[in-house]
Amino acid sequence: MLPYGRQSISDDDVEAVTAVLGSDWLTTGPAVTRFEDDLSAHSGGHGVVAVTSGTAALHVAYAAAGIGPGDDVVTSPLTFVATASAAALLGARVIFADVSEDTGNLDPGAAKAALTPATKVVAGVDYAGHPIDAEPLRALAHDAGALLLEDAAHSVGGRWQGRPVGDLADLTTLSFFPTKNLTTAEGGAVVSPSESLTAGARSFRNHGLVRDPGALRFPDEGPWHQEVHAFGLNYRLPDVLAALGSSQLTRLEAFSARRAEIHARYDTALADVAEVRTPSRREGAEPAWHLYPLRVLDGRRRALFEFLRERGIGVQVNYVPAYWHPVFADLGYRRGLCPVAEEYYRQEVSLPLFPALADDDVDRVSALVREFFGYGG
Ligand SMILES: *Cc1c(COP(=O)(O)O)cnc(C)c1O
Repeated sequence: MLPYGRQSISDDDVEAVTAVLGSDWLTTGPAVTRFEDDLSAHSGGHGVVAVTSGTAALHVAYAAAGIGPGDDVVTSPLTFVATASAAALLGARVIFADVSEDTGNLDPGAAKAALTPATKVVAGVDYAGHPIDAEPLRALAHDAGALLLEDAAHSVGGRWQGRPVGDLADLTTLSFFPTKNLTTAEGGAVVSPSESLTAGARSFRNHGLVRDPGALRFPDEGPWHQEVHAFGLNYRLPDVLAALGSSQLTRLEAFSARRAEIHARYDTALADVAEVRTPSRREGAEPAWHLYPLRVLDGRRRALFEFLRERGIGVQVNYVPAYWHPVFADLGYRRGLCPVAEEYYRQEVSLPLFPALADDDVDRVSALVREFFGYGG
């Protein structure tokens, strides 16, 4: 089966990991600091907190934003459920706002209409790698006294109006799962231009432990003493994985370029197929394409999915609207809430996309899509 996404691991990656395995620090060591610095250079020069997954990054970011019971989080339903569930787990109420029909990203008009006096975070998602409409979202969030969070699990290395992902929102979260644009096996990060949000993220990542003698409530306890001022968890990314991240980062531009090439190749091959719609790109966007979300306009999305799977093409669907998950349905969220996102979901199928995908494979997948819709070779 040709997978829809796959990591690219080089000899240098293997060497970087092996070197750390023989060092003194498997975790909480210098490779983590280095990865955070390296990542910062690719995401606007801001503070970076490396964590154990993209889901952990969301949990940490919402916690740093002070999200808790009584707070509302406005977000997109066209995402992996973690964008919403991490906020719900902290006790927030999640309010889903609809997406723009071209990019599938949180629509600023819908987000604005969904704001409440209790909204503390507006969370957009860089769907498929296309950055969110950052300016209006940031403005409407800030006008409401809320923060803008960008779930950039798909878009590390992307740019919007010349600014890198990481430089667009108050909090940006990344994922380094193997199918994503950069991998540490499991891993993620929180990026923020705010020192206090970065400090909050660091604290939550490490049990909320305070060691700075000047900040201790009971400084006379003894030289061993450290104390917890706010609850946190252990979301520390090990050095072993951070080293893989630093090594991968040296190829981020090459990964993004190859992903863009494949995207363009699918676009060209499928341009005349009237039954499908190829992905949109807004003026000013330089997406770090993570997905190739093809939209099937004639109602045969499922048939195309099965046709391709039967022929060994590992297509995916991204995503079932988050509030269709029974955990949200049981809380009273009803189908029909965000019709544009639901329509997007009904049409969407993700074609294989990863840097090592050969042109021949892209052509084979494209030819099968054409065959399915009755377009000859
Ligand atoms: C992958 C993903 C996550 C979660 O990241 P993990 O590293 O798998 O925990 C969150 N949001 C989006 C949009 C994702 O694609």
